[in-house]
Amino acid sequence: MFSGGLKDNFDLHNHSTCSDGLLSPTELVALAAHTGTHALALTDHDTVDGTAEAAQAARTHGIRFIPGVEISVSWGDTTLHVVGLDVDPAAPILVEGLNSIRDGRFGRGQQIAGLLEKLGFANTLEGAMAQAGRPEKLSRAHFARHLVERGWVKDTQHAFDKYLAKGKPAYVPHRWAELGDAVRWIRSAGGVAVLAHPGRYNLQPMMREEMLKQFGAFGGEAIEVVTGSHRPEEYALWQREALAHGFLASRGADYHGPGESPYEPGRLPALHASLTPVWSKWAH
Ligand code: AMP
Ligand code: MN
Ligand code: MN
Ligand code: MN
Repeated sequence: MFSGGLKDNFDLHNHSTCSDGLLSPTELVALAAHTGTHALALTDHDTVDGTAEAAQAARTHGIRFIPGVEISVSWGDTTLHVVGLDVDPAAPILVEGLNSIRDGRFGRGQQIAGLLEKLGFANTLEGAMAQAGRPEKLSRAHFARHLVERGWVKDTQHAFDKYLAKGKPAYVPHRWAELGDAVRWIRSAGGVAVLAHPGRYNLQPMMREEMLKQFGAFGGEAIEVVTGSHRPEEYALWQREALAHGFLASRGADYHGPGESPYEPGRLPALHASLTPVWSKWAH
């Protein structure tokens, strides 16, 4: 699957139990080491809580670790995700910004549970909270897992497709960070801002161009091209967009856990040779 250079198996988008992943940071790093990943980024949603543990595990396994985060952004009516790579997890502007958006997660969860209740699914707040562990982590992914656990849907993808995705009956619109703020927090923490899975937002070509233009103008430097959240037939489009807009390219499994993601960490195709990888910014 990976056919890049000897030390170039970078996987720069992965989740742990510090947000909606199923493996602890230590377990995630162990898996990445096992699959032959040379450099791994932990990019939990709206938190850097797992980075110290992951860094320690990476030292144990002798792989390189890049502290990261995946910030939820509201861009008009569209939710975008912006990954920050090589951030200082202690940078106050970043930490305060992330805290400010995580505060809204539990309230949104209460509203999601209310809508699910009307659809005949009782007590999902308790069930999703049992999955999440902490209120500020509460994610639609935890609701999806709970619906599977109760036998109401056959897998988490169906939970999104039938109930939780935008436009479905248990979707609750939410205001996250502003795009410019998310990029600013990342840059103030010394990191590089990467637009996550740009193919996931279902934008028409004009809006797509506008998103890329604004992201670049705010100081965004890279976009994900090869990711578990793109269908392989989408890679060519985002490769062209990266080249056309002068963005660096990123690669990441967007791994959430066994059975929930198409690629394990490090086990996804290499970036096309025409692209400049985002990791070219960092000394080897
Ligand atoms: P939240 O941040 O609570 O809105 O949850 C977003 C997370 O839910 C994403 O990071 C994915 O892990 C998952 N997710 C969102 N949309 C989908 C979808 N259409 N299919 C499967 N998983 C999804
Ligand atoms: Mn997620
Ligand atoms: Mn995402
Ligand atoms: Mn992700």
